[in-house]
Amino acid sequence: MKLDVDALRYLSKEDFRVLTAVEMGMRNHEIVPAELVERIAGLKHGGTYKVLRNLLKHRLVHHDSSKYDGYRLTYLGYDFLAIKALVNRGVFSSVGRQIGVGKESDIFEVASEDGTILAMKLHRLGRVSFRAVKSKRDYLLHRRSYNWLFLSRLAALKEFAFMKALGEHEFPVPRAVDCNRHCVIMSLVQGYPLVQVKQLQNPNEVFERIIGLIVRLAEHGLIHCDFNEFNIMIDDEEKVTIIDFPQMVSVSHRNAQMYFDRDTDCIFKFFNKRFHLSFHRDKEGCDDSDSNFEEDGRPSFWSIEKSAGFLDKELAASGFTRKDQDEIEMLLHFDRNSNGSSPTVRVTFYPSHASSALTWLFDSAPSATFPSADPEDRKLRHFDRTQEPELAG
Ligand code: ADP
Ligand code: MG
Repeated sequence: MKLDVDALRYLSKEDFRVLTAVEMGMRNHEIVPAELVERIAGLKHGGTYKVLRNLLKHRLVHHDSSKYDGYRLTYLGYDFLAIKALVNRGVFSSVGRQIGVGKESDIFEVASEDGTILAMKLHRLGRVSFRAVKSKRDYLLHRRSYNWLFLSRLAALKEFAFMKALGEHEFPVPRAVDCNRHCVIMSLVQGYPLVQVKQLQNPNEVFERIIGLIVRLAEHGLIHCDFNEFNIMIDDEEKVTIIDFPQMVSVSHRNAQMYFDRDTDCIFKFFNKRFHLSFHRDKEGCDDSDSNFEEDGRPSFWSIEKSAGFLDKELAASGFTRKDQDEIEMLLHFDRNSNGSSPTVRVTFYPSHASSALTWLFDSAPSATFPSADPEDRKLRHFDRTQEPELAG
């Protein structure tokens, strides 16, 4: 999906106010009645309707009058809210080109004021999975919170928390910089997804390192669950970086063994096919009590699980309720399982070299964060005290 951020520069405070009002209304409505948008935004003299027309013109909202006169955010509208909030926080100030498109995300380069290039991942849950789940898991249809906005935000929150925790435990992952709504900002990984690499200097070493990472993750209590050549980046020094964490689970998950074996299998198969590595453990070299490996050389989940650490529990305490975790897990894993082990839509990668044209979002330095002390703004803030979004504008 093209992310045309040009319009962002021309949107006024009122535009963002109304856009935020639509977002707030979507907590309880798939399509937000225009009247409610007006009430939340609280612009004078019917100003909301004029602004809505402008937002519609820029495709930031979608108009739906099938049941009543109403609006919902588009992905672009949600993108703009997240981008504006992050720009206001000073995290970055320009958006560059797209560097990746996954099944459930779009990845762009962004640059901060001092010229540091970062990666921005916009989660797009629902692009594929939502439909699949929706058709099969009827009970979810009755859940108010179950919409793409909520799920994409949850995926981003989870990814950010995991990336941060893994980085702190010295796993080779991108540096987690910031997160807002469905958007995660992280360091830009130099290198390419392994799937694009045709030759390695030391395939054996790289393979051992990757399997070592699966094992060390499990020792910390976690399984990646989508550990494959698309989510492993490798640079010219053959250094490995793992990406893509929304689907990770704890080793205490009921299907943990299956996920662990599947991750391991993917790597064994890929290295066998691409680099012709064959795997058999040297029986003479290992004593029989070495129960950390299966006979075919695969690491044994059972022996790791016994002594697993507690990173999974730390993370469970870091902002996800058990319910959040269950919902996102069900959605992500359900979809993957229904299509076999791998996602249907594969990653397209745009090789990253020197950064090309960046679109500067705002002419001046990032402004103070909305909401201001303006009483009008406070009215908006008090609309829902339980879960206040960071307002853009
Ligand atoms: P998805 O969940 O949609 O699979 P990923 O996180 O795997 O999304 O990202 C999709 C692609 O974007 C990756 O395969 C990679 O090519 C690119 N990418 C993602 N994160 C980064 C990053 N931090 N630095 C550089 N490229 C990245
Ligand atoms: Mg991926």
